[in-house]
Amino acid sequence: MKGLGLYIHIPFCISKCNYCDFYSIGGADEEKKDRYVSALVRHMQDYKIQAKSYVVTSVYIGGGTPSLLSETQLKTVMRAVKKNFRLSPRCEISMEVNPGTVDAAKFKVMKRLGINRISMGAQSFDDGELAMCGRRHSSHDIFACISDARDAKFENISLDLIYGLPDQTKEKLFENLDTAIELDVDHISLYGLKIEEGTPFWYNRHDLNLPDEDTECDMYFESIEKLAHAGYRQYEISNFAKKHKACKHNLRYWNCDEYIGLGPAAHSYFGGKRYSFKRDINLYIDSFDETKKVNEPLLDEYVDIPPQARIAEYVMLRFRLHEGINLARFKKRFGRSFESLYYEKLWPYVNSGHVVKTKTGYAFTPKGMYVSNYILSHMIGEDLVIPGSNS
Ligand code: SF4
Repeated sequence: MKGLGLYIHIPFCISKCNYCDFYSIGGADEEKKDRYVSALVRHMQDYKIQAKSYVVTSVYIGGGTPSLLSETQLKTVMRAVKKNFRLSPRCEISMEVNPGTVDAAKFKVMKRLGINRISMGAQSFDDGELAMCGRRHSSHDIFACISDARDAKFENISLDLIYGLPDQTKEKLFENLDTAIELDVDHISLYGLKIEEGTPFWYNRHDLNLPDEDTECDMYFESIEKLAHAGYRQYEISNFAKKHKACKHNLRYWNCDEYIGLGPAAHSYFGGKRYSFKRDINLYIDSFDETKKVNEPLLDEYVDIPPQARIAEYVMLRFRLHEGINLARFKKRFGRSFESLYYEKLWPYVNSGHVVKTKTGYAFTPKGMYVSNYILSHMIGEDLVIPGSNS
């Protein structure tokens, strides 16, 4: 049976953080959330037949802020997952939570429902940085949240942190990392701040005191060293894990394995097609409400990927991983040699120390990872056909 990942988008937030351009809405009442959950259930039912020959190896409930769902709403979602998809016995089931939106009782319910991995949006342990980002929680809330998750017997906890924040010094960032390490979490995602168009940070971008390029570069490399020293292996550009704690679901994306995404703005790669749904919760809800007549299609992008673009996409995603390209697996998957296709474009980066020849193939060095977007767009940019896939 083929493996499948399932992503469930929960597009509710208390308020919008200053850097965020994910699709979510604020101020949703319980009735709206109930209607949204009903739409998700219908959507899962629609997939039941198509997903019959697959076994789901990972489920990821992301957002937004999934921990804003009530216990009943969460139960409804998880029941529908189990009813409409075949889950593997060791299925990784992750849920994103924001500190301050979940208590010990809800963690216990989550655990009973089969959720076995927590991805916590900590972002910083500095209350000043949190406030500047527009986060609604304090550092104290993060400690309480981790303690509650552990009381509920969660043994796989990941923290998201951001580097390169306005006014952030290297010392402040490393204090954040030290705190995460002391908390002994299993996985750390460390993202560099990107000023996304349309966000409050973008509107104020000229007034933000952002670290200069050299400082940001030092932050990245020194963080990798610090985390490695503490036992967190970098397995992807922004992701670090203790042994056996790499996120299975995200690995599906970087391995170009199939997944279904449910909800507005969710993306799927299923049956050789890539597609996504519009960023519109009302359209999503109405599309699965039999009493409503909806004239607008829910589908946003839909691409049947041609063979050359499939290869380019695989190269782009696999190079994000520390392991990089495995020549034997590439040959098996595409029936062609990676080197015959890419060596000409690759060798300057091998010579410059951005790419290294490994025992099994080619991978970025840390220096290459830092500028991976630039290198990949040079290597494969013109072969990609998926909107936004080279960003
Ligand atoms: S809580 Fe997460 S999804 Fe919601 S606005 Fe903040 S960063 Fe974005």
